[in-house]
Amino acid sequence: MRVFKFGGASVKDAPSVRNVLQIIKRFNTEPLVIVVSAMGKTTNKFEALVNAHFDKQPTAAILEDLRNCHGEIVKDLFGDKAQPVLEDINNTLVEVEWALDDPDGLDRLFQYDQIVSIGEMLSTKIISAYLKFQGLENTWVDARDLIRTDNNYQDAKIDWDQTKAMTTSTIDAALKKANVVITQGFIGGTSENFTTTLGREGSDFTAAILAHCLKANDVTIWKDVPGVLNADPKYYHNTVLIPEMSFFDAMELAYFGTSVIHPKTIKPLQNANIPLYVRSFVDQDAAGTTVSNKSNLKIPPSFIVKPNQVLISLTPKDYSFVTEAHFTHIYSVLSDIRMKANCAQNSAVNFSFSTNNDLVKLNQLRERLSNEYDIKLVENAELVTIRYYDEDTIALTTEGKAVLLDHRTATSAQLVVKK
Ligand code: ASP
Ligand code: MG
Repeated sequence: MRVFKFGGASVKDAPSVRNVLQIIKRFNTEPLVIVVSAMGKTTNKFEALVNAHFDKQPTAAILEDLRNCHGEIVKDLFGDKAQPVLEDINNTLVEVEWALDDPDGLDRLFQYDQIVSIGEMLSTKIISAYLKFQGLENTWVDARDLIRTDNNYQDAKIDWDQTKAMTTSTIDAALKKANVVITQGFIGGTSENFTTTLGREGSDFTAAILAHCLKANDVTIWKDVPGVLNADPKYYHNTVLIPEMSFFDAMELAYFGTSVIHPKTIKPLQNANIPLYVRSFVDQDAAGTTVSNKSNLKIPPSFIVKPNQVLISLTPKDYSFVTEAHFTHIYSVLSDIRMKANCAQNSAVNFSFSTNNDLVKLNQLRERLSNEYDIKLVENAELVTIRYYDEDTIALTTEGKAVLLDHRTATSAQLVVKK
């Protein structure tokens, strides 16, 4: 059995959904468990809906837009047979209206999960119905019957034992009926049957969880890029595809911020020795990238750019050495205010780190630390991480820029630079 994952971009409109059908038809000679995200930018729209609701702003227009976008796709796919699917979509969206009508005072994170998860419900219902409409038998499975989590809404943690038991029994039964299963990425359920979400972009993680529990042969993530590139083409001209890489390198790249593979995806696959393929849904014949437990795979120097960074430099007011006690204090404040040090370095009387520019958190940091420390900020910086750097790649990164921080290990260089 294989696990496929289709992200938002691969199901963003009717032609994309037809393309998904073609891909599934090519591979359904063996059992497929297919994980699907919400269509296109649906999750962002649901987030806007939740924000509007809690900010006491109008929500009707956003909901209408969601209804229309999905309705248009359904009409395009099903033509004069669209009615039953449109009704299903409307009934699903009624759940959102109910959630919005719930008494005030419900926890925002809880409400977010109940509402935003509907995006995945809509996409999988449409796709499952469309495959059937085109003669491809499949079973739609509710991911809340597969993935059991705690009630840490918006970032729920997996109960692996329950999830294994639920996944194997539910998927085994479903695959007996048809050899294609369609389910939602990104969502799970608590023991009390409330919906949870696993964090933005969490559908890759869902695919990895299911593959791990089902001991799948492999996982394929179908993307709008040819595979994992050594840099984001937004920032670099001469990018190259990495045909093969180890889980170890994938983990390091994900940790530093590569956007192609979600960081949580790797561990369940690595632990169960299940290879991951990242392939293009546009060019289905291209091999893409294989990530596996093979060692000694050489990958080219790889760049990860984090734009809009602030370099924060802290110096103890009494000019004392920066010691373990200072680190403990500073990091506990960072953890409290959920500010991430993307790269940090210290000298005798200074601790510097690069973080995402977030005004609210920067103010909290000032409040918490300005009694003990002189705080200096440099805004509009960029953090570039180079895995397997060499002199040429460092020169390319720093050319014409001021280097504010330079932190190197044997395999990775992290440079905070500013034009
Ligand atoms: N639909 C969710 C999101 O946009 C999950 C995913 O796409 O992986 O974050
Ligand atoms: Mg997505």
